[in-house]
Parts: sequence; structure tokens; C-alpha cells
Amino acid sequence: MGRTQVGLCETCKHSRTVKGTRSTFWMCGRSATDPSFPQYPRLPVLSCRGYEIDPARKRPPA
Ligand code: SF4
Repeated sequence: MGRTQVGLCETCKHSRTVKGTRSTFWMCGRSATDPSFPQYPRLPVLSCRGYEIDPARKRPPA
């Protein structure tokens, strides 16, 4: 799944990826402590109050 299809989760420090047989699922780590966040956000995530950039994942725009 490309960057524009994932949205903010791709560069958020709270996201984790779970590899399935045919696709990769994006999981929100905030959901573990705050049930208002979905465990598996509907993609693309275009705005999110919990977003925090992970500098290690930051990439120039595609
Ligand atoms: S806090 Fe928002 S942007 Fe970050 S992983 Fe969760 S849903 Fe995605």
C-alpha cells in the first residue's frame, strides 16, 4: 500500500504494521490506552488528533 493510501499513520510514531498473507495492516498504538482511537484505522487517515511524527520515518513527499 502506497504512502497516499495510508496517510498520516505511515509517519506517525504510534503506528505499527502487521503483515498479513496478502496485505499489510496498519495498527494504531494509541488504541491500547485510548479506546477513542480505532485499533485498525480506516485508511487513508487524512487528519488525526493523535498524530505525532516519527522523525525516523519522515520522508520527502513522494
Ligand atoms: S494516532 Fe492517528 S495517525 Fe497515529 S497511528 Fe493512530 S490513527 Fe494513525
